Amino acid sequence: MKFETLTIHLGNGTHESHGAVVQPITLSTTFEHGNEGGMLYSRANNPNRHSLEQVLAAMEKGEDAAAFSSGNAAGTAVYQALAPGSHIVAPDDMYHGLHNSMVQLFAGIHEVTFVDMSNLEAVKNAIRPNTALFWVESPSNPLLKVSDIRAISALAKAKGAILACDNTFATPVFQNPIDLGADLVMHSSTKYFGGHSDILGGALVTAKKDAFWEKIRNVQRIGGAVPSPTDCYYLTRSIRTLAYRMKGHASNAKALAEFLVSHAQVEKVYYPGLATHPNHAVAAKQMHGFGGMVSFTVKGGAAAADRLVSKLRFFANATSLGGVESLIERRAAVEGPNTTTPDNLLRVSVGLEHIDDLIDDMKEALG
Ligand SMILES: *Cc1c(COP(=O)(O)O)cnc(C)c1O
Repeated sequence: MKFETLTIHLGNGTHESHGAVVQPITLSTTFEHGNEGGMLYSRANNPNRHSLEQVLAAMEKGEDAAAFSSGNAAGTAVYQALAPGSHIVAPDDMYHGLHNSMVQLFAGIHEVTFVDMSNLEAVKNAIRPNTALFWVESPSNPLLKVSDIRAISALAKAKGAILACDNTFATPVFQNPIDLGADLVMHSSTKYFGGHSDILGGALVTAKKDAFWEKIRNVQRIGGAVPSPTDCYYLTRSIRTLAYRMKGHASNAKALAEFLVSHAQVEKVYYPGLATHPNHAVAAKQMHGFGGMVSFTVKGGAAAADRLVSKLRFFANATSLGGVESLIERRAAVEGPNTTTPDNLLRVSVGLEHIDDLIDDMKEALG
């Protein structure tokens, strides 16, 4: 099955539903012993989560997937499954929520080195005898840095360490980390998978059902940070249109990035699809498209950036990303005092509005 077909059919388990074309939401928390699907209790498994996990695994070309109640819960499950005393190599501009998970929840449990993962030498130099996990986020948030996943996977394999890739920005429509040598793929399903800014969720997909995956399954079952059947239903429904939404996001993002490059009030544009992006060659090699996220800095500092945001009509000043509506925010203000993000940087989640409306709005607000 091709991607568009499997996203429509695999997450929709309609057996035993009286001919319903759409799988119903099964709210029951408990199941009769000896039932055909082997369901026991909803925290361990339920029909809607099972369907969601099947489509997630297929989308990312893995052997299995586990759904979580948020992206942070999914990422944290990986750190929980590591043996205490493990060393992690992670990006210096890592998604701040998972950065906080590593440094706050796992302080004294694991060691972490944050490096520019788009710089292979820096990654090599960060390796220690106890390095057990390489955490890649590509493109990264909010600087849209691109890391060479295949090259990092070679380093991980040589070390006997796990390579996990946060694929939230690219989505499997544009990038398959498992094809590039990753062992695990992580998603915040809250973003493009949900696609309408109304579901919180997270996912892990594994290349192999190995011993480490069993530990992650245990964290999911015993830790219990699982999505509800209703959330799973909405996610499988949204995933059915993912391929088409991503094409729209990417084409709007490219057009907006090109417009911004040409504008005198704009200092710098960060978009991996631009030939001027420092890692454009790596992006072109490992991605089938460049996604829907664009960051840019404006002349006049943070105040000018805030002024611009306040004038926009179609870009809501809000955090998060991946919904049909365009969002914009000044990241440094959200990330707090220790951030390395430039304070005049605006991150845009380019929505599915007509591109002419988005560019006209931006043109007017930039003045
Ligand atoms: C949002 C996000 C997360 C965290 O996901 P939540 O669903 O908010 O917990 C992780 N990584 C990236 C790249 C994200 O954008």
